Amino acid sequence: MQLNAPIGIFDCKLFLLIFIIVILYCSLRILKKSSAEIYFTGIFPIPSQISFLGIVLLFLHSQFQVFLKPTGSLCNLGCHYCYYLKKEHLYPRGEPFRMPEDLLETYIIQQIEASPGQVISFSWHGGEPILLGLDYFKRIVQLQQRHKPRDRIIRNGIQTNGTLLNEAWCRFFAEEKFMVGLSLDGPAEMHNRYRLTKAQKPTHKQALRGYKLLRHFGVPCDILCVVNAENVRHPLQVYRFFKEIKAQYIGFLPLVEPRPELEGCVSHRSVPAVAWGDFLSTVYDEWLSQDVGRVKVQIFEEAARTAFGQEHSLCIFRPVCGDIPVVEHNGDFYTCDHFVNPEHRLGNIQRVISAAGTCFYNMHTRLDEAVNGGRCSGLVDTVFSYSIFLVGNFPFRQVHFMPVNSIQQNQV
Ligand code: SF4
Repeated sequence: MQLNAPIGIFDCKLFLLIFIIVILYCSLRILKKSSAEIYFTGIFPIPSQISFLGIVLLFLHSQFQVFLKPTGSLCNLGCHYCYYLKKEHLYPRGEPFRMPEDLLETYIIQQIEASPGQVISFSWHGGEPILLGLDYFKRIVQLQQRHKPRDRIIRNGIQTNGTLLNEAWCRFFAEEKFMVGLSLDGPAEMHNRYRLTKAQKPTHKQALRGYKLLRHFGVPCDILCVVNAENVRHPLQVYRFFKEIKAQYIGFLPLVEPRPELEGCVSHRSVPAVAWGDFLSTVYDEWLSQDVGRVKVQIFEEAARTAFGQEHSLCIFRPVCGDIPVVEHNGDFYTCDHFVNPEHRLGNIQRVISAAGTCFYNMHTRLDEAVNGGRCSGLVDTVFSYSIFLVGNFPFRQVHFMPVNSIQQNQV
């Protein structure tokens, strides 16, 4: 009898009906309005007009930093351990790898809209962003000033290999108060082990010249040092070199290159776990006895955060990551610098992303939080091990299946 129809079927039909109504509603709205609007206002508490980044913010419930890659993976160097150079192959042959100005402006507007605090931060990454030329960055600053609300502050950070810096760049950075991150792997013989030009020429001299120019112009500059199988054996030499050049902030980044086919599952360049621990302990002892208050070492600061009851700020130490998405040169949006691949492309900031897709993005975060925190059984992990992401041109042209655990759980 109808009255005895199973509740599950009834629910299913009801759900289907609501789903169809929503689709019709959204489609009608799409026909009427511009592609910069989101159409799930009836179901999700989303304003009727909101940018792509705005909606990400809405679901993350927190401020997030974006790595913007206006020149994609383009770089003048060919560092042996670079994981980003090969991203070139994600895009068609002959791709210009230069974010066009109208898209740049779209991004800047969205970033400003999606930044809730007083300070609006921009992080320019690559590849090598300096390849875009100084005029491109002058234009960036102009656009930021054009769209910035009067009572807000804009801060720019840029990550560079330093080899192309000259006086004009450093003067510009000083005037516009850019923060610079510069990659240096220690003294020349260690830096030049893997950080080479595409023609396999050493780069230490040029990078150091860039660093000294930055200091000369008073530009705040952090050092990013990749710790690999070579320089890990010389912790004090590396650390003292940075002290000699008067580095005030040092980030040590362990090199881990997955190679599942090899014994140990990582490349020969990767830093061995025990050696990495010894490296940090040795540097820590010297830092503690001589340099506290004078030199900041990112990983030690991270360790101190938990002692003061603060959440880690560095993504690799957080139980759940995903708060530093990437925008590529053509507007493609990815969850993380380490997951720039077709499986983890969430959309494009120029087009409409379905609110449902972003909602699932958020669900990933929350779900993994639960799984990582041990509050969920393995069943939940299995049931939700694939979530549907609806991305690209609305309505539902592309459907992506994303393995939850590969995207949000920290694997480093
Ligand atoms: S400088 Fe950076 S982006 Fe360029 S090849 Fe080296 S690691 Fe890659």
